Amino acid sequence: MVISYLLSAAFIFKNWFSIIIIVRTMKTTLLNLLYSLPAAQLVAAHTAHYSNGTGTGQPVGQPVGGFSSVRAGHKQTPFPEWLTEFTGLKEWPGIDPPYIPMDFIDFSKIPNYKRYDQGVCGVNPRESCSFDCDRCLAPDDVYTCGQLSQTFDDGPSLATERLLDSLNHKTTFFNLGINIVNFPDVYQKILNGGHLVGTHTWSHPFMPSLTNEQIIAQLQWSIWAMNATGHHVPKWFRPPYGAIDNRVRSISRMFGLQAVLWDYDTFDWQLLVEDQTLRTEEDIYRDVQDWKQAGNGLILEHDGAFKTVHVGINVNKILGDDQLTVAECVGGIDYIRTFPPELKSRNAKVL
Ligand SMILES: [Zn+2]
Repeated sequence: MVISYLLSAAFIFKNWFSIIIIVRTMKTTLLNLLYSLPAAQLVAAHTAHYSNGTGTGQPVGQPVGGFSSVRAGHKQTPFPEWLTEFTGLKEWPGIDPPYIPMDFIDFSKIPNYKRYDQGVCGVNPRESCSFDCDRCLAPDDVYTCGQLSQTFDDGPSLATERLLDSLNHKTTFFNLGINIVNFPDVYQKILNGGHLVGTHTWSHPFMPSLTNEQIIAQLQWSIWAMNATGHHVPKWFRPPYGAIDNRVRSISRMFGLQAVLWDYDTFDWQLLVEDQTLRTEEDIYRDVQDWKQAGNGLILEHDGAFKTVHVGINVNKILGDDQLTVAECVGGIDYIRTFPPELKSRNAKVL
């Protein structure tokens, strides 16, 4: 678990994501109804270039990079037939998901800002509106709430269950696709509790450092993970590290996603770094008391580790249960589309 959150730390993130990318070419037929977007119509045969990535240094069964790899002896979300038809693949990808072309992605409308790594700011003009570099917010970014409310990133994980057992209000989770397919039972428990789930990408990369195709892959596979596991298509998207600029935004909007940032950061992941000078639980509770005085806002927390979940439970005690989900904060919808359970099999066929 410590490893999982260490990897949320900017300074070592890149070391874990040296990826071997094998680019292959395959033929695929696009059955482009997954998002139920107007532009998501039809289609002919396309040639898809995809990378079948193999993460280096990824121990099986261990949490890696804010997410967990395959759990030994535990069932993944079955890889649906419709996704095999759509992608030509038969199993969930590793940390570097393959790019699959989608009709509603218009590359000519993606602004041509330079890719940049974490902490490398100033390579693009301010109009690129980077939240991680300049705290820039686009008009449609959600970043606050009329009622001070918690949000939880990086799950689902085993620790998530403890959080769910203690919550008496509906909250918002931003889940990683790779964790969703590896913890489908926990995901279902989140849904059973009536909570809202948004996407946090497939495997937690620093999105502005990726190519357009890699960004698309991170979003499409996270959406498919939610679709295959929870039978719905997400509306809300929280970029890992808050790393988003207008290039990433333009692609996420083509999926119908809307970005969600925050105005209060607990920096709870620092509790998992063995450096006592960084942050203590008491620091967090003191901050939360201050934020409570203001009465509104969105708080960033994590449910990928038991320690941060423990803090999340205590923060809930400070704030009480008078909290909102992100959708409730802005009077928005929970999901772009939800498939009724009785239509699951038929949809699987149709899609
Ligand atoms: Zn995260």
